[in-house]
Amino acid sequence: MGKKFVHTLSDWSGRDALRRAGVSKTVAVIGGAGFLGSHLCERLLGLGDTVWCLDDFSTGRLGNVAHLFQTGRLLVREHDILARLPADLPRFDEIYNLACPASPGRYQAQPIRTAMICAQGVLHCLERAAADGARLFHASTSEIYGDPELHPQPEAYFGNVNPTGPRSCYDEGKRFAETLISDFTRQGGVTARIARIFNTYGPRMQPDDGRVVSNFVVQALRDEDITVYGAGGQTRSFCFVDDLIEGIVRLTRTDAAVDGPVNLGNPAEIEVRELARLVIDMTGSTSRIVHRPLPADDPRRRRPDITRALELLGWAPTTPLREGLQRTIDHFAAVLVQTGGVSRPLAAGGTLAGLAP
Ligand code: UDP
Repeated sequence: MGKKFVHTLSDWSGRDALRRAGVSKTVAVIGGAGFLGSHLCERLLGLGDTVWCLDDFSTGRLGNVAHLFQTGRLLVREHDILARLPADLPRFDEIYNLACPASPGRYQAQPIRTAMICAQGVLHCLERAAADGARLFHASTSEIYGDPELHPQPEAYFGNVNPTGPRSCYDEGKRFAETLISDFTRQGGVTARIARIFNTYGPRMQPDDGRVVSNFVVQALRDEDITVYGAGGQTRSFCFVDDLIEGIVRLTRTDAAVDGPVNLGNPAEIEVRELARLVIDMTGSTSRIVHRPLPADDPRRRRPDITRALELLGWAPTTPLREGLQRTIDHFAAVLVQTGGVSRPLAAGGTLAGLAP
């Protein structure tokens, strides 16, 4: 972001009365301008909270949260998590840590920084949570299971992870973050909740993010080749963003004793080449499927066991893949029209003309 974005305590002070009256929480969402972070800010604002969105704007965008200023309860501060959380911000009731580039292309572009965000950055969140008496939510990942030998993956599975490969900065970084949080929790300084988030998709993914859903949808809308890596027999299980956010809020706010990480994801598993065919079908695209080399250490399969989330939180995803994909396609269609990046006519609302609703 070119210009620094700095809300200050004086922007916030009026809202303190709300908190003293016990009607709202004051929370920090770190990485709040990113894909998941912006949806989380929106949800927490909807619950009546005052939300400080902290972001270094390396992968997040102000445009993801700009529509939320109208609530009067969103405050934004440009902040790099490798520095301590700003001392001049209020005491937080909850801190949500989503600060980390999450697409393989993005996190591998700056591997040392990625690893340090998972180490130093998480330490800063823990220190602030301890000082404020705040509850900490941490976004961990299914990547901690690596290329799993156990399928589907329950939380008790320790994983199969390469410590020195191109994905390790993220995989091992996130594993270390879980270690750090667990030790803080055991020492009694902090109450923390860790979600292991499986592949999530939806509106506000970046078109050039490099992840499979955004790649395939954008390629299909442009009638460009769909790039399937390898033969496409590898599987993923895709969770629509609204379902995931519901799980995050329930996990953070439950009064139940939660000991250890909780998987959040959709157990509906699909091969990557099948996803490519589905996207082509749903967009009516003339795209062809082409094959590209499989990246190193690309997990062959991934599917969450969500028994624990169901038992602890009564949570399970409710959005079928087709429905979530349609909403994602509509989003990208609208974005591409705005940027002049789609060649076909779109009907009102962004849905591609000629597509069944
Ligand atoms: N993938 C693909 N084509 C693409 C992007 C990704 O075939 O254009 C594959 C990738 O190799 C992986 C899966 O889709 O097997 C999911 O990749 P993504 O980067 O979305 O997330 P990951 O689960 O690997 O972190």
